[in-house]
Amino acid sequence: MSTFQTLGLGEAVLQAVDAMGFVTPSEVQEKAIPILLENDTDIVALAQTGTGKTAAFGFPLIEKIDPSNKKTQGLILSPTRELCLQIASEIKNYSQFIPSLHSVAVYGGASISDQARQIKRGAQIIVATPGRMQDMINRGMVDISQINYCVLDEADEMLNMGFFEDIKAILSHTPDEKSTWLFSATMPKEVSIIAKKFMSNPVEITVGTKNSSNKNVKHEYYIVAARDRYPALKRLADANPNIFSVIFCRTKRDTQSVAEKLIEDGYNAAAIHGDLSQNQRDLVMKSFRNRQIQMLVATDVAARGIDVNDITHVINYQLPDDIETYNHRSGRTGRAGKEGTSVVITTKSDARRIKSIERTLKTTFEKKNVPTGEEICKTQLFNLAEKIEKTEINDEVDQYLPEINSHLEHLSKEELIKKLVTVEFTRFHNYYKKMRDIQPMDESGRSDRGESSNDGSTRYFINVGEKDGFDWMSLKDLLKDTLNLGSDVVNRVDVKDKFSFFNTPSEHTDAVLAAFEDIFLDERKVNIEVSENRGGGGRDRKRRGGGGDRGRFSKGGGNSRGNYKGDRSRNSSSSNSGGRDRRKRRDRY
Ligand code: AMP
Repeated sequence: MSTFQTLGLGEAVLQAVDAMGFVTPSEVQEKAIPILLENDTDIVALAQTGTGKTAAFGFPLIEKIDPSNKKTQGLILSPTRELCLQIASEIKNYSQFIPSLHSVAVYGGASISDQARQIKRGAQIIVATPGRMQDMINRGMVDISQINYCVLDEADEMLNMGFFEDIKAILSHTPDEKSTWLFSATMPKEVSIIAKKFMSNPVEITVGTKNSSNKNVKHEYYIVAARDRYPALKRLADANPNIFSVIFCRTKRDTQSVAEKLIEDGYNAAAIHGDLSQNQRDLVMKSFRNRQIQMLVATDVAARGIDVNDITHVINYQLPDDIETYNHRSGRTGRAGKEGTSVVITTKSDARRIKSIERTLKTTFEKKNVPTGEEICKTQLFNLAEKIEKTEINDEVDQYLPEINSHLEHLSKEELIKKLVTVEFTRFHNYYKKMRDIQPMDESGRSDRGESSNDGSTRYFINVGEKDGFDWMSLKDLLKDTLNLGSDVVNRVDVKDKFSFFNTPSEHTDAVLAAFEDIFLDERKVNIEVSENRGGGGRDRKRRGGGGDRGRFSKGGGNSRGNYKGDRSRNSSSSNSGGRDRRKRRDRY
C-alpha cells in the first residue's frame, strides 16, 4: 500500500497532509496522484464524492503550480457554490505551507468586484462555478488564456445542471495545450462527449466499478402505503436517535412540507430548496454543519454540493426519476471512509425500480420493516442509558447535591435508575402506545407480517387489549412471565382496543399455544390463536390446537386465572362490544 511519501509529493504538501491528519492515501489518490505528477496528461477519473477526489487533483495541481508566478495557472470548475467554497477551502488547507500560493473562489450570489479584486492581486488557482466564470470572462475581469491545468469536478453534475454551453465557452478561452482533468461520479453519454471533444487521449481511472455505488454505503428499503410515508420517516428518525441525515424529496413543496411537519413534531429539521434566498440557504447549511440541524430536507438541486462528512443516513422520501440521481443522493453519506446508510421509503408501485437500481449500481438493497413502537421505545431507552453512562460529570452540580440527595435518599439505586430513564422514555412510550404500527408490505402490496412471515416468526392474536388495561409493555411483560421462554422471545406486541397481536420465533408456536390453554382473565378465558393477519386488521385468524372448540374455553375451570388478574385487568367486562372482528368473538364468548 502506498503512503503519501511514496506518491511523490513535495515537502510542503506532505507537511499539510500531516497537519490535516491524513494518514493513508485513498484509492483515487493512490491512482491519480502519481499519474498527474509524472505526466502532463489529460485524465478522466470516475470517483464518487467523499472518496478524497479533491486531494486527488488538488495535491498534484499545487505541485505543478509555480507559486513565484502570480498569473492564473489552474482553473477548477465545479457545479455549485457550496462545492466551489468547499474545494477552495480544501486547496487553502493543502497549500497552507506555501504562502505565495493563492487561490480564489468565484461563484454567484457574492460581490463580483470583490472576487475580481482578489484575482487581480494574484491567484494562481481559481475555483469557479461555470455561470459566474462566464460572467467574469465576458466582463474582462479574469484572464485564463495562460492556464496549464483545467479541472472539471463533478462533471456529470455540471452537465445535469445544464452547464454544457458555459463549459464549452469557458474552455474556448483556455489554451489548447493545457491538461484537462475530469472527475465525475458517473459516466453518462454527455460526459463521454465532453471527454471526446475537449480532451486528448485521457488516461482513464476508475474507483470501484463504473457506475458502482460506494462500498461504505448500505442500501435499505421500506415498502409502505402512501399515507404511511411520513409516519415511516418519523419512526426511522426515532429508531436512530443519533441520526444526522439528508432527506431527499422530489419537489420544493414536499421538501417544505416534510420539514415543517418534522419541526412541528419536535425534530431539529430544516428545508433547503431553490425558493430560499442564498442567505437563507447559507444559514441552513451552517446550522447543518454545526449539527444544530439533524435532519435536512432537500431537493436534489439544492443538495448538490452538500459536502458534509459524517452524514449517517440519506433518506429517499421518494425515489428519484433516474438512477444517477439516486447514486448522487446516496453519495452524500459513507464519506471519508465512514459507513452510511441510504434508505428508500417507497410505495409498492415504485418498489420494482429497486431491482433496476440494484442491477445498475451492482449493489443489493435490504428490505426492512418499519420499526414498531416497541422497537423504537427499546432503542430510545438503551440510547438514553448509554448517554447517561457516557455523560461527563460536571462538578458544578456538587453545590446542589446535598439538597438533591436529601430529596432522593429514600429511593433505592434500582428505583432511582428506573425513574431516571422513565423521564425520557415515557415521552416515546406515550406516543407510540397510541399509534398503529406500520404493517410491512411485500412488492405486491400485501402485508407480509403473518404466520409464515419470512423472518421465521409466528404472529398471534390474543383477546386482551387496552380495554383490559394493557399497553404493549405491560402485555409484553405478562406474556413473557406466562410463557417463561426467555426474555427476547416476545416481540412486535401491538395492542388494540380489545385484542392484541404479538410475535414469537416460530419454533415456540406449540409451546405458546399450550401455555395459554388454561388461562383466564377475571372470568374470561384468554384465547390465543395464530394470526394470518394479512389485512392487518385481526381478521382471518386461524386457530391452532383445537382453539375453535368452544367447549375447550371453559375447560380448566379458571383455577389459573390468577395469572391475569390484578390492576392491569380493569374494565374487562366491556371487552365484548365493538366492530366486525369483535362480533365474531362475542358469539364465541
Ligand atoms: P472529497 O471526496 O474530496 O470531497 O473528500 C471527502 C473528505 O475526506 C474531505 O473532508 C477530505 O478532507 C477527507 N479526506 C480526503 N482524503 C483523505 C485521506 N487520505 N485521509 C483522510 N481523510 C481524507
